[in-house]
Amino acid sequence: MAGCCGHDAKFDGVSDSYKRRLWAVIAINAAMFAVEMGAGQMAQSQALKADALDFLGDALTYGISLAVIGASVQVRTTAALAKGVSLLLMGLWVMGSTIYRVFVVGVPEAGIMGVVGFMALAANVASVLLLMQYKDGDANVRSVWLCSRNDAIGNVAVMLAALGVWGTTTGWPDLIVAGIMAGLFLTSSVQIIRQALEERREEAGHLHEAG
Ligand SMILES: [Zn+2]
Repeated sequence: MAGCCGHDAKFDGVSDSYKRRLWAVIAINAAMFAVEMGAGQMAQSQALKADALDFLGDALTYGISLAVIGASVQVRTTAALAKGVSLLLMGLWVMGSTIYRVFVVGVPEAGIMGVVGFMALAANVASVLLLMQYKDGDANVRSVWLCSRNDAIGNVAVMLAALGVWGTTTGWPDLIVAGIMAGLFLTSSVQIIRQALEERREEAGHLHEAG
């Protein structure tokens, strides 16, 4: 679900075949970000836009995690801080634009929401299947797997919002789901930033002792 993903993923020691699978998952996530963001704009759906940002965040997280394999704690924590801050900005943007939409009369296109929500679910199920055989691997691999599963739950929430919009002919179900996602982005960003700063402090302590 929104902003849950892989912020503590470190892919040290993973096999080349697992790396190839991760690249495929990154490509799927990046493509779905573009599709879902475009659809969210077209359908005027906040929930679709929030779900799209989760795909972007995941693509960046996996990409960065692969890029910093074997790098120093300094580089890793800087990457984690960048991820946390970008997640914070995403959360603030989704929250702000969702609150703004509360005061704008309009009903999102439930049909587009439902179809694209289903495509997003298919993309996440594909990611789960790509990573499935590794689910009993180490904790990081496990977190990637759990994350894709949680994202699938988020996609179902988008489809339920579509159903709610269609049923009530109001934008409220869309705004409520988007608001929950924004909240998850924000809490997750605070956790990531806090954890990165803590790791950085610990590392500074070790260096001090050693020196
Ligand atoms: Zn995610």
